[in-house]
Amino acid sequence: MKKLVFATNNAHKLEEIRAILGNKVEILSLNDINCHADIPETADTLQGNAALKAQYIYENYGLDCFADDTGLEVEALNGAPGIYSARYAGGEGHDSEANMKKLLSEMQDKDNRKARFRTVICLIEGGEEHFFEGIVNGSIIRERKGGAGFGYDPVFMPDGYSETFAEMGNDEKNKISHRARAVKKLCEYLL
Ligand code: IMP
Repeated sequence: MKKLVFATNNAHKLEEIRAILGNKVEILSLNDINCHADIPETADTLQGNAALKAQYIYENYGLDCFADDTGLEVEALNGAPGIYSARYAGGEGHDSEANMKKLLSEMQDKDNRKARFRTVICLIEGGEEHFFEGIVNGSIIRERKGGAGFGYDPVFMPDGYSETFAEMGNDEKNKISHRARAVKKLCEYLL
């Protein structure tokens, strides 16, 4: 069976892609290949960071692989937090409460609430790079709503819905999310 490394140890992301690719492609995590490095993400675009992560695996392990990078891009903030989404409020990052607090405060006097989540996947197969993008458009509401999901989910309402990502629950979110859309394109290419 064809093997592909997904440059992540995020159990949810691994589960999502394994569910789609089923028994056609074996997906290995970073743990599976004994990679415990802190892979640099020093580019200034989502594409650049996804490519850096995939290139790291390809160059050090010689394996076909892919990596993703996601950002929340808010129109009134000129695309911020973007590549800084995980560490928008500073520090080590991944403090969702602090990140949302900063976002709501930056957006306090903004009437234009338009935002989008964008995921870019970089696949390296036989040394060649391929990119896949997934976008979900929506808006930043004024107060957190809902308890499911993670990250900015409680403040992001996708267009055409009256619930935030955090009110929807994972099943519904995973049908329309930026990541699901990028993963679908990758899978269509691979299958
Ligand atoms: P990553 O590239 O998948 O690690 O995502 C970077 C950051 O974007 C995360 O730390 C979250 O703050 C935010 N993010 C990514 N995907 C989502 C999502 O589906 N909902 C809410 N926030 C997200």
